[in-house]
Amino acid sequence: NRHERRADGRWPFHRGAGYRRACPLQPRRAERAAGPGDAGQRPALAGAEAVARGSPHGARRGASVSARLVFATSNAHKVSELEAILAPAWEGFEDGCVARMSDFDVASPIEDGVTFEENSLIKARALARATGLAAIADDSGIAVDVLGGAPGIFSARWAGSHGDDAANLRLLIDQLSDVPDRHRGAAFVSAAVLVTPDGREFVERGEVRGTLTRSPRGEGGFGYDPIFVPEGFEVTTAQMSAEQKNAISHRGIAFRALMPHIVEYLRD
Ligand code: IMP
Repeated sequence: NRHERRADGRWPFHRGAGYRRACPLQPRRAERAAGPGDAGQRPALAGAEAVARGSPHGARRGASVSARLVFATSNAHKVSELEAILAPAWEGFEDGCVARMSDFDVASPIEDGVTFEENSLIKARALARATGLAAIADDSGIAVDVLGGAPGIFSARWAGSHGDDAANLRLLIDQLSDVPDRHRGAAFVSAAVLVTPDGREFVERGEVRGTLTRSPRGEGGFGYDPIFVPEGFEVTTAQMSAEQKNAISHRGIAFRALMPHIVEYLRD
């Protein structure tokens, strides 16, 4: 079992009421990363030297980062989904265990892997190396059946410029305009990874299948959510509440599988 639950089936992070475990600083000097465009190219701030520009909970702006974990994404939608999905993992630990990438002066690495897993590891390895903290990353996208799994790892830049959600969505809708309903199957995919500063790596994959509508529906979510109807539902993921989406989403599945490793790391 990759998830390493205890023999009694419970996750190891369950603690008695009121237990607050300290999340001590583990200062370590940033190392320079090797590759071009890597997060280590610019001098990074690490551990006690780092000055927060914001905290995962928004409460410690300007304070030192007292963190052991950092999210390797600057996508605000993903960060808020991850904070909600992983909330049970920090139960019992002090606020401030988890930092955001924007708390550090690091650049995003070039994602030149060919799978979700490879790109997720590239992001997490670069940030772990640059900060000295454990890094959690998600690489995700939509895989459309009639496009042979595309946009896939190119989901964020399908229309050309990275992160232009509106243009990406419009292009995909246009490309599929002649595709009949029975061939409009697709899946959201997420590769969730944890890379620890001492080099341990954990990878979990989550997938949710569904069908694609012809026009956008709903205001929630991001990216391709307005055209994705998960199997067993009649609404798009943009019409769901955040809780509903997280309960069934690719990211929810992948990060819930990763959670025991995260908790184990925090308890070390
Ligand atoms: P990444 O940040 O390189 O992993 O790219 C992820 C891209 O995949 C996003 O920009 C979206 O276009 C798409 N994507 C991933 N997850 C979701 C989701 O939950 N809803 C909608 N689109 C998503």
